[in-house]
Amino acid sequence: MERIGAVLIDIDGVLTVSWEPLPGAVEAVRRLRAADIPLVLVTNTTSRTRAGIAERLVGAGFPVGPDDILTAPAVTAAYLREHHPEARCLLINSGDVRNDLSGVTLVEEEDDEGAVPDVVVLGGAGAAFTYTALNRAFRHLQQGAGLVAMHRNLYWRTSGGLTLDTGAFLEGLERAAGTEAAVTGKPAGAFFAAALAHLGASPSETLMVGDDIESDVLAAQRHGITGVLVKTGKYLPETHAASDTAPDHVLDSFADVPDLVERLGG
Ligand SMILES: [Mg+2]
Repeated sequence: MERIGAVLIDIDGVLTVSWEPLPGAVEAVRRLRAADIPLVLVTNTTSRTRAGIAERLVGAGFPVGPDDILTAPAVTAAYLREHHPEARCLLINSGDVRNDLSGVTLVEEEDDEGAVPDVVVLGGAGAAFTYTALNRAFRHLQQGAGLVAMHRNLYWRTSGGLTLDTGAFLEGLERAAGTEAAVTGKPAGAFFAAALAHLGASPSETLMVGDDIESDVLAAQRHGITGVLVKTGKYLPETHAASDTAPDHVLDSFADVPDLVERLGG
């Protein structure tokens, strides 16, 4: 086995919950930094820009900057620029991530009465996912608009408990409109490839640490990355037990990651 020399880290449920640091997480990232382990934070978070996330994490004591963060909106912009250049995109998202969507033409529903956008882009669920907005999206899809989703996560954990996410709405839209979304965030292979390219690392020398067994851990393992599941955030013992593939490593929390990296030769 190749020595581990790089780490991809999910943020929500791994380093923080509702943007508050989990016990030991700040210290663990500092230890990885002190050991010169290249790392990048890979998140399906759609509520904040990379700069906004960095500001929040720095405020909590994490030694990271915007360049250390790869978000679903940022990889979605890259996907749209490549696969739908010049497209007029209707974004449904809870949170303002326009600064991470450079090169993407966003149309406002009100300014563009009746016109069908080229692509409907679904971001993160929240107050913006109203019946009106989703029904408009459904009608656009029926009239031939493309569908791109930043992720299809079913739920995440906030300080208030597990919270319904984009995937639950996306399944309904896809079934009703008879179409299938192109998904750009985790578990898409392109997302992991972008993270590895960012670090200049190969899959076999890289760890991916996440709280979502499917989107973070097993998806990374399918791309040759070593998967690490942490028992924080959205982790549920029953989901773990029901999985037919095992994570390469299971840890109580991110606080245990530096010791694992050391054991694996980092
Ligand atoms: Mg997570």
